[in-house]
Amino acid sequence: SVPARGSDELLRLRARHLNPTLSVSYREPLKIVRGEGAWLFDADGRAYLDMVNNVCHVGHCHPRVVAAGQRQMALLNTNTRYLHDNLVEYALRLTATLPPALSVVFLTNSGSEANDLALRLVQAHVCARGTVVVDHAYHGNLSSLIDLSPYKFNGKGGPGKPSHVEVAPMPDTYRGPCRDAAAAGAHYARGVAGAVARLAGRDLRTGVFLCESLLGCGGQIVLPDGYLAAAYAAVRASGGLCLADEVQVGFGRAGEHFWAFQRQGVVPDILTLGKPIANGHPMGAVVTTPEIAASFVSGMEYFNTYGGNPVSCAIALAVLDVIADEQLQQQAASVGEFLQAGLRTLQQDYEPIGDVRGCGLFLGVEIVKDRAARTPDSAVARTIVEAMKQRQILLSTDGPDDNVLKIKPPLVFSRDNAAEFLHKLAEVLARLPAAA
Ligand code: PMP
Repeated sequence: SVPARGSDELLRLRARHLNPTLSVSYREPLKIVRGEGAWLFDADGRAYLDMVNNVCHVGHCHPRVVAAGQRQMALLNTNTRYLHDNLVEYALRLTATLPPALSVVFLTNSGSEANDLALRLVQAHVCARGTVVVDHAYHGNLSSLIDLSPYKFNGKGGPGKPSHVEVAPMPDTYRGPCRDAAAAGAHYARGVAGAVARLAGRDLRTGVFLCESLLGCGGQIVLPDGYLAAAYAAVRASGGLCLADEVQVGFGRAGEHFWAFQRQGVVPDILTLGKPIANGHPMGAVVTTPEIAASFVSGMEYFNTYGGNPVSCAIALAVLDVIADEQLQQQAASVGEFLQAGLRTLQQDYEPIGDVRGCGLFLGVEIVKDRAARTPDSAVARTIVEAMKQRQILLSTDGPDDNVLKIKPPLVFSRDNAAEFLHKLAEVLARLPAAA
């Protein structure tokens, strides 16, 4: 059995024996030992409402997901070179949720692996290295994806932008140059066309435009209407492909739609998936068209030791079952709407809430020093996160200025949970600036 160590000792041993770049959440880190539904429990049995983990999508340790994994682990785990029902059933069930064009599935072990494989599909299909990404985006931890993640390459310790990459501005109608909802889609899509033109100016054809269907690290941003349609048109006109990264936001989180790209009325050429796909079990996926998949056939096999194994597929199937049976997409829509309405009410009373945005259970709250100037206030955002933790609610911050409270709980997060959160947030806001 594993000895139970105190937090100080764990920190000391981590510092000595583990990746020295690991971080921990909160000034005083939590030692979490158990999860259930939307709740996490620390070593002293204190319960924390988890409002930030979008990986345990159908709830921490959902009994049906756990049982599906346990059953399959006790029976067989092997690779895709044997026929197995789970793999084929998963491909059928996943593609049934998607537009008909997206009918071919590749399974991986992470979102990063999915995006890296997607880049190989792009090279096979259009053979063009130029890549357009959106500012502040994060697409994964592999070398190929650090290159495509402004959040990393322009961030602390980042190596800077590689020459085959161009960055389009975030379509941010709160702080960006165009704040008119009706004009914003076309305005920011011109930013994508501009990036394509800059690549062309360096004799680089655009191979792919990567864009999250809702921006995560960028600060919980909802794409303005018409943005992807116009951006995709510009990219396709130059011969490039369009990739929707739904590693964070897929599988019903967006509420009204199962896939967040559907909000924009487009169909990407390649869709990448991860995090919620298997409720925390390591898994990712690429879904694409038969034409693009056919271009990948060169004689060399894409083999992934663990990708698509029977255990992962059993778990991912159970996740789809639970989303449907517990109507979690509908819950994301209704609880998300209730939360947004409550946050907007708080916004009327509390100056630091500059903006409330999002859809379904993917929400952002901009914390500002001054409503008119929209000056980001990361210090107060941090104070709120710490004060909410004292009240046993887990949140975190993101965005270029680290001042956006990000809200993306497991979809089992209920209206009662939302009411408790709103009540405690009001208490914290009333006590600012100290808010202990
Ligand atoms: N794409 C997006 C949008 C992500 O948020 C992440 C992870 N934060 C990834 C890709 C990479 O996924 P993973 O950590 O599973 O490799």
